[in-house]
Amino acid sequence: MPMTKRTIFTVAAAAASAALISAPLAANAAPSASVASAASLVEARASKTLVIGLDGAAFDFLAPADMPNLDALRAEGMTAASNLYAAPMSGTVSGPGWSTIATGVWPDKHRVTDNSFSNPDYATYPDYLTRIEAADPARDTYVVGTWGPISQTIFGPAVDVREAGGNDEGTTARAVATLSTGDPDDVFVHLDEVDGAGHSVGTSGAAYGQALARVDQQIGQILDAIEARATRADEDWLIVVTADHGHTPTGGHGGSTPAERKTFVIAAGAGIPAGSVRYDVKLVDIAPTVIAAAGVATDPAWNLDGTALGQLQPDEFDSVRGALQTQVDETRPGATTLGWTHTTPAGWSIDNSAMPTGGITELRGWTFATDEFWTNVELGQLRETSVRNRDVFAVADSDEWDDKTHAAGQFDSTLVSPAYSLNGAATATLAFATNYQIDGPQTGEVFVSFDGGAPVLVKSYTAATNANERLSVSVPAGATTAQFRFRYTGTNSYFWTVDGVRLEQAAAPSLEVSAEAETRLVKGKVVVAVKATNHSPVPVALSLTSAYGTKTFAEVQPGANAVHTFTTRKASVPAGTVTVQATGVVDGSPVTVSIDAGYAAASAH
Ligand SMILES: [Zn+2]
Repeated sequence: MPMTKRTIFTVAAAAASAALISAPLAANAAPSASVASAASLVEARASKTLVIGLDGAAFDFLAPADMPNLDALRAEGMTAASNLYAAPMSGTVSGPGWSTIATGVWPDKHRVTDNSFSNPDYATYPDYLTRIEAADPARDTYVVGTWGPISQTIFGPAVDVREAGGNDEGTTARAVATLSTGDPDDVFVHLDEVDGAGHSVGTSGAAYGQALARVDQQIGQILDAIEARATRADEDWLIVVTADHGHTPTGGHGGSTPAERKTFVIAAGAGIPAGSVRYDVKLVDIAPTVIAAAGVATDPAWNLDGTALGQLQPDEFDSVRGALQTQVDETRPGATTLGWTHTTPAGWSIDNSAMPTGGITELRGWTFATDEFWTNVELGQLRETSVRNRDVFAVADSDEWDDKTHAAGQFDSTLVSPAYSLNGAATATLAFATNYQIDGPQTGEVFVSFDGGAPVLVKSYTAATNANERLSVSVPAGATTAQFRFRYTGTNSYFWTVDGVRLEQAAAPSLEVSAEAETRLVKGKVVVAVKATNHSPVPVALSLTSAYGTKTFAEVQPGANAVHTFTTRKASVPAGTVTVQATGVVDGSPVTVSIDAGYAAASAH
C-alpha cells in the first residue's frame, strides 16, 4: 500500500530532529511540566549566609576547648585547616587576615599587609558583601564587628548595615537582634576577645581556653537566633566559622611560625558533607563560597584566588597524601610530621637523570610536599609566600637541597605530566598555581610535547612569579595528546612550586547540519529526496550518500540548503537512510561531521 506523501514527510522530519537533538520533543513534553513546578518550589526557599570570624583563634586549640556549638557545627559540616602567608608577603595580623577572608584574594592582590590599611586595593578586590550588593541589590547585607576596621574599612559602604559592637557581648547582641527581628540575607560577625586572651596569656594560658569557651557560647546564641526565626523552615543557611591568624604559645602573632600561620575554615550548609575534613580549602575560598550560596555568579574577570567549595576539586598531586613521609635529613618540620614524598601521582614522573647524587634527601629533585612540612625546613625564606598551593604540591628547591653535601653540579630536575587527551580544539590552556622565587643562578621552564614529539618551550621564567598561571598553547592539527614538562635548574638559589595543574580546552569545534529525507513517486517509480541545511556560521562542503549514489556540493553557505533527488528506477524501495557529511573550517581547524536522515519504505503498487 502506497504511503501518502504527508505521512512519509512526518517520518522523515522526526528522523531529522532526532539527528539534531537526540531525543524526540514529544517524549519530553509531559515530564518537563512537573520538573518546572518542582524547580519553582525549590526557588521559593531563601538562601542565607552567615560568616562568624573569631579573631586570633588557633585551630589546634579548638578541639581541646569547651566548644560544644563549634563541635556540633563541625559534625554537621566540613573542617579544613590551612596555613597563611607570612612576611614578606604579609604579616600574620588582622588587617590582611580579614581582608583575605572578605575579598577572596591573597595580600599581594588586596594589598593589605598590616593594620595600617595604607594602600588597600578594595576598588579592584572589594569584600564579598559589596560584590553581592552589586549583583543583587535586593539582598539584605549586614556586618557587625568588635574590631573597628571590620565595619569601617574592610567591608565597604555598599553593605546595607555596618555596625560596631564595642565588645563581643555587644557584637553578639546586635547580631542576635538583627537575626531575630530583621530579615538579613548575608551576615558577617567579627568577635575579637579570643585574640585579646591570646595577647594576654598565649595559647598555653588557661584564659585562652576560657575565651574560646566564651566565644562558643556567643556562637551558640547567634545560631539559636537563626533556628528561632519564624521563617527558618523555608531558609537554607550556609554557616562559616573562621579565623584571621593564630597565636604563639606565649602570646602574640604577626610572625612566620606555624602557630601564627595556622588557621581554618569550618562550613556547614547544603551540599557540604557532614563531618568532612579537607586539606585543600583556604581562607580565600570563603568569599566565593558565600557569593555562590547567595546565588551570584562569580565573574572570572574578578580574578579571585578562591574557589567556591562546591566547585573546588582535589588536584592530581593531592592523591599522594597517603604516601607522605616524615623527615630524613631535615630536622625542623618535626619527627612526626608527614609531609614529603617522591612517589608520583598516577601518570606523572620525575626525571632526575641530570641530578647530582647526594644533597638533602627530601628535596633531591622535584618533591611532592605539604606547606606544613616544606615551609618549616627553614622559616623566613619566602616559602610561606606559596599561598596559591593547596594540600600537596610539587616543589623544586635548590637552596634547601644544597644544604647537605652532594656531587658536583647544579640541581636539575624535570617534572613530567601525563599525556593529556586533546579534543580537537586549536588551542589548549595549561592552568597551574606557581611560585617562582630567585636568589641565584636558576631556570624554570615549561615545555609541551604533542603526541610524544620533541618538547617545545612554552614559558621560561625570568622574574619572580607568584600567580595562577594560564599558559595558552597552539595545538597542531590532528594532535591527540599533550604532555608537559616542568624543568628547574638552580645553584643554591630559591625554589619553584607548581600545583593544581590542569589542561583546559574550549569545546571542540563542530558544525551544525540538519537533514531530512523522503520518498516520492514519480511516473510510477520511487525517488529519494534529500534536503540538508547548514546551520553553522561557516560555509560547508556537503556530500549526500544514499543506496542510489552520491551527490556533492562544494560550498553551502550558512543558513542555505542543499537539495537533491536520487533516482532509484524502482517501483518499490525498502526503508533506508541518506548519510550527509559536512566539512568546514572552524577556528582554523578542519572539521567533519556526519548525520543520517531516514526515509520510509515506499511502493508504487
Ligand atoms: Zn591580635
